[in-house]
Amino acid sequence: MAEIETGSGRPEAPQILAGDRLTPALGPENSGRMFAAAVGVAAILVFLTIAFIRPTSPDAKSLGPEISQQAVSIDDPATTQNQELALVESEQQLEKVISQTPAIFFQSITVKNGSNLMDTLLKAGTDRLDAHNAITAIGEVFNLRRLRAGQTIEVALRPADENEGNTKPDLISVIIPVSPERQVAAIRNDDGKFDSDDIAIALERKLVHAAGIIDDSLFLATDRAGVPARLIMDLIRVFSWDVDFQRDIRTGDKFEVLFERFRDEAGVDVKDGEVVIASLTLSGKEIRLYRHTLEDGTVDYFDAEGQSVRKALLRTPVDGARLSSGYGRRKHPILGYTKMHRGIDFAAPRGTPIMAAGDGMVEKAGRNGAYGNYIRIRHNSTYKSAYAHLKSFARGVRTGSRVKQGQIIGYVGSTGRSTGPHLHYEVLQNGSQTNPMKVKLPTGKKLAGTELAQLETHRDNLETALRLTAGTTETAAN
Ligand SMILES: [Zn+2]
Repeated sequence: MAEIETGSGRPEAPQILAGDRLTPALGPENSGRMFAAAVGVAAILVFLTIAFIRPTSPDAKSLGPEISQQAVSIDDPATTQNQELALVESEQQLEKVISQTPAIFFQSITVKNGSNLMDTLLKAGTDRLDAHNAITAIGEVFNLRRLRAGQTIEVALRPADENEGNTKPDLISVIIPVSPERQVAAIRNDDGKFDSDDIAIALERKLVHAAGIIDDSLFLATDRAGVPARLIMDLIRVFSWDVDFQRDIRTGDKFEVLFERFRDEAGVDVKDGEVVIASLTLSGKEIRLYRHTLEDGTVDYFDAEGQSVRKALLRTPVDGARLSSGYGRRKHPILGYTKMHRGIDFAAPRGTPIMAAGDGMVEKAGRNGAYGNYIRIRHNSTYKSAYAHLKSFARGVRTGSRVKQGQIIGYVGSTGRSTGPHLHYEVLQNGSQTNPMKVKLPTGKKLAGTELAQLETHRDNLETALRLTAGTTETAAN
């Protein structure tokens, strides 16, 4: 798999491994260098803390001085680092500084089953009042009932200053990663109180290319090439208007995919986006589709010429027919009692041609009980249509044959439980009958004019990105 970065680059954020104990390894027997090290570590600590807590905020610096004083607190809290450095002269003073230089340490703690944030913070060794105050602050930006067992929170603590009679460490910050794009936090301020913070994390979008030959199934081939399972299911849905996965895939067919992946500032991949280019080459014929957002916000996959992959089903599959019975409860004309009518009836003269409502595969063409002569067409993974009481089937239409939208599949009759010549028409959505007049059939939009021009620009950009991506390192092959 090859990867490419897109979007604006941002400076690398320093990376802290949560759980690392950032304690300066110092001993009083060492001299000036160690003090410099202590100050240095403290400075790094401050820097890391700021970066860690506020990865993107422009006013992150405002946190600096407070945390600085806490990290390098010497006798006089107002003492600056430069003044501190002047103290290096005295070895005794140095020892004192080192012994009193507290090190903030970070912990990652997993919320246990049946536990809450208070329990979790106490378990981390936090002072109860600190924990209470931090929780109150976080509660301002986050509903803590949404905290889940198994979630990991980041806690920063500063060891207790025994000279001040403290026994528990001071809580410096609590960070809850809510999602890859959001953290909420409580951060200790100058007064020892806690400020809440709701941090939006800008993710960097990159595009990942995967391609390969299909030896067995599309699922297995794309899985081997590193396409995430969710995106494979999306791919199958997208292609299901054009491809019958049970029949059309042959050994040697090819796929190519360009999909989004997002990473955080530490360079860690945190989530997958969408498939932006999807291509299948079946028996040498390519179907290449582009994910595109129209100006009204609808998102769809289009081919290079702007034809949406979605194909509408015909609502009236017989020409010039009259709707004689709608969908819903009605008194059954033969059985005499009220019954749910799970289709619609079109009255038409015997022998009137019936058209396939959409492209698809004939799942059944034959006798089917009260339905009489019956055809059911599978259009994609979601939609099927069914036609009942036919006089006869059109030539070549049998179970397993492919039909095109508008193709004549049979003729109106009165076979099965029927009072007279009519077509009983059903649309099945995920296996259940739905009202063909109300079902929100996909649009099958064909772009033109400005919309088409926008698609073409978008398509060309995606193709450029794909060439760059596929052209870099190894291209996945299987
Ligand atoms: Zn009917």
